[in-house]
Amino acid sequence: MEYSFAHRRYSLPFRMPVRTAAGDWESREGLYIRAVRPDGSAGYGEAAPIPGAGTESADDGDAFCRTLGDRVDGQVFARVPANLCSLRNALSCAMGNAAGPPRHRSLGVAALLPAGRAALVQAPQRAEAGFRVFKWKVGVGHADDEMAMLDDLIGGLPGGSRIRLDANGAWNLRTAERWLSCSADRPVEFVEQPVAPGSRGASDHLLGLSADYPVPIALDESIRGDADVGRWLDAGWPGYFVIKPAQLGDVQGVLGRLAKARARVVFSSSLETGMGAQAALRAAFAWPGPTSALGFGVWPLFQDPAFDGPASGPFIRIEDVDRIDPEALWNALN
Ligand code: MG
Repeated sequence: MEYSFAHRRYSLPFRMPVRTAAGDWESREGLYIRAVRPDGSAGYGEAAPIPGAGTESADDGDAFCRTLGDRVDGQVFARVPANLCSLRNALSCAMGNAAGPPRHRSLGVAALLPAGRAALVQAPQRAEAGFRVFKWKVGVGHADDEMAMLDDLIGGLPGGSRIRLDANGAWNLRTAERWLSCSADRPVEFVEQPVAPGSRGASDHLLGLSADYPVPIALDESIRGDADVGRWLDAGWPGYFVIKPAQLGDVQGVLGRLAKARARVVFSSSLETGMGAQAALRAAFAWPGPTSALGFGVWPLFQDPAFDGPASGPFIRIEDVDRIDPEALWNALN
């Protein structure tokens, strides 16, 4: 089938700069893709690469789209450069390759807590709002201080609450070991990316820590695209996979492999707009395995709220996902 093709580059300021290891991230750069079928129906997709992940930029995707002209067909996938995973994802969405039917009506969402003591104030408020899974950024202050705070944090939460500790690769092996041993008898759901993916011996360290401690480890920064998922599956990774569907070129293929391996998956946002969030959340709602709380508690995110995904309550319902109108977002870029 031949589609009439168009793309739009966007730059959308965040309400507040997003802090990352590489510095403050002020605005989301990405692309919208539109593919119109011969019958006039339109499909949409968003390419939302993560800067600093070292894979692709919005400009790379824009440059490639400019080579395509105003018509595309299924052959286009053979021409997309291998590193442009999020662009491939956008083309695939626009050309109708969507997630299967939903298997869930409603999924829980993890509350995002700020680093440091601010978490102690926010966590009980989020618990009051109904959240029971909490994600706390660690590796920002001194490990001894943060470990002492962990017990205060747990003490302020209702029974049955669980905490995800996200180190964003900040720890060395020794610190990671201390945290994993301290987490063992506490309600820690998992420890996310204890050591940096590029650090010396990182893969062996992650596998070794998984074998040595009972608390599961989640890979986030270690997974930058389809190939990384395959590598960790081949290595028999026993922990969680943090999956940002917007960063995968072949979402259905990768999720199919993860499901077959009965892998534990946490679906997570790429800080994309509503268009990409709809596709990513549909992948989460179609996931056949047990689901852990979604890493999609990120909105409101943009200065222009029209581009936000579903508001961040303790649950996201499939109706909230279906309500997003990609055509309205495409038009809003004018
Ligand atoms: Mg993370």
